[in-house]
Amino acid sequence: MSKPKVYVTRQLFKSAIDIIEKHCDVEVFEGEDNPVPREILLNKVKEVDGLLCLLTERIDKEVLEAGKKIKVISNYAVGFNNIDVTEATKRGIYITNTPGILTETTADCAFALMMAAARRIVEGDKNIRSKKWVHAWGPKMFIGCDVHGKTLGIIGMGRIGTAMTKRAQGFNMNVIYYDPIRREDFEKKYNIIYESLDELLAKADFVTIHVPLTEETHHLIGREQLLKMKKTAYLINTSRGPVIDEAALYDALKAKTIAGAGLDVFEKEPIDPSNPLLELDNIVMTPHIASASIDTRTAMAVMAATNLVAVLEGKEPPNPVNPEVIKFIKTKNYVS
Ligand code: NAD
Repeated sequence: MSKPKVYVTRQLFKSAIDIIEKHCDVEVFEGEDNPVPREILLNKVKEVDGLLCLLTERIDKEVLEAGKKIKVISNYAVGFNNIDVTEATKRGIYITNTPGILTETTADCAFALMMAAARRIVEGDKNIRSKKWVHAWGPKMFIGCDVHGKTLGIIGMGRIGTAMTKRAQGFNMNVIYYDPIRREDFEKKYNIIYESLDELLAKADFVTIHVPLTEETHHLIGREQLLKMKKTAYLINTSRGPVIDEAALYDALKAKTIAGAGLDVFEKEPIDPSNPLLELDNIVMTPHIASASIDTRTAMAVMAATNLVAVLEGKEPPNPVNPEVIKFIKTKNYVS
């Protein structure tokens, strides 16, 4: 019996490819570290039973229509806003993601951005490299803001929000949070306080965002919300760029109606060289690398491969985004 065919849209870790190769005929996009061009993707999906893709691939109706034989799309990310899940479900296609294993690494990065912004680490580094460090020490030189003992406002108390809570406790911070789903168990366990979004914005010294990108969370933080923040507060985002209205954030940072920001994600990635955020000193930026540790990226690849192979072997995958798809598969008798 011939093996199922799989297309992988980026060079991945060998341990993951080995898993797929045991069960499938696999082809990997040859590019070094660039996303697969759309025409190639549209062409490749015509032939395969499974696709392993990244958040750089827009899996919309056109791709799903072209991939008539596809039974599973395994996303190499926990967020899946790049995929039209509703359309995939209707077509009996499993969508899977990589939850949990990138939680701690992403929280490490969010905490690092918070500390770097508050303590002006990047500005200090640039100062030394540009040979502008002329006076050895000064009481007001690169004066910043304490992190320990301050109030951290967490928007989205899911996996990464919880990991941020644990870190904040080690820094003796007060934690307040907003989430449409109130977590009274967490409130008791971690001694944290539930607030409305407006109250959180008004009270927090640091606001950190950990929500999925959906229609509801698009521009969740806009001009109005930024004006509710303290003048001394910092905004950190490692979720998805469009959760913040970037033009409004630029204005707030420029006018110093908030003190600073730390961003790993942007409305358009990579950001345009003309993006005005690049001109500002009171922002620390990383190029969407919050989960980029060798351990985590390897574990994500293995999880994505395992999800993919499970479906192609006729089993339920460990991390389905749309478990309800089973109804559509049964009626279509999709998996043998
Ligand atoms: P999760 O599903 O465990 O938690 C998300 C939380 O957000 C849930 O508690 C949910 O109730 C809450 N939420 C939903 N809508 C909300 C709203 N309108 N206001 C406030 N809270 C809301 O997800 P997670 O594993 O913690 O990941 C969160 C997001 O972080 C992912 O969806 C992904 O997009 C992003 N992420 C980015 C990186 C990166 O590389 N920068 C890495 C990992 C995850």
